[in-house]
Amino acid sequence: MRVPFYPAHGCCRICGRMIESGDGEVLCGECRSGARPHFDRAGSVFRFDGMARRMLLDYKFNGHVWMRDDFVDWLAALLSVRFRPADVELVLPMPLTLRHRFDRGFNQCDYLAGELARRIGRDCDTSTLRRIGSPRRQAGLSREERLLNVAGTFAVARPDAVAGRTVLVLDDVMTTGATLSECAKALKDAGAARVWAITLARPAIDA
Ligand SMILES: [Zn+2]
Repeated sequence: MRVPFYPAHGCCRICGRMIESGDGEVLCGECRSGARPHFDRAGSVFRFDGMARRMLLDYKFNGHVWMRDDFVDWLAALLSVRFRPADVELVLPMPLTLRHRFDRGFNQCDYLAGELARRIGRDCDTSTLRRIGSPRRQAGLSREERLLNVAGTFAVARPDAVAGRTVLVLDDVMTTGATLSECAKALKDAGAARVWAITLARPAIDA
């Protein structure tokens, strides 16, 4: 099956943001400047709008689990197109914030990360990466405010699990990348060699 990854052409080699004239192997202005994120590469399956947005929200909040294996198919396809699956040594789902864990009780990323890890023959670790704070909602905040909001809110419970390894963090939506960058910072501080970020969706606002 052919998957129309977002963006289809010309994205930043590091953050995955769409670049007008890019050929897929260039850097956006931000990543060329000092503002590059702490992760080494990021990619998303689809643009967060229309039917894709509906499917994802239904999976996340309305228990529409029948789409989840298709999501894994698409994530696996993206992984082989934009990353090198053989280099991934550990898969980590983005942990829920404490507030969301209380509200929702389960992490929809756990299943996706677990299945993706199984497909590439790697372990999925749901306990090493932890949230240690409850940031305000990121929606409505600028990129700078988002970075401040999530600063210091991740902890790595077992640094030896990630030290010297290439780890893949899976989240559902990447907006400015502030949360994934902060998460990558914690993993790098714990000794991770490379941090890659894969998400199902990203909105077009950062294009
Ligand atoms: Zn970039």
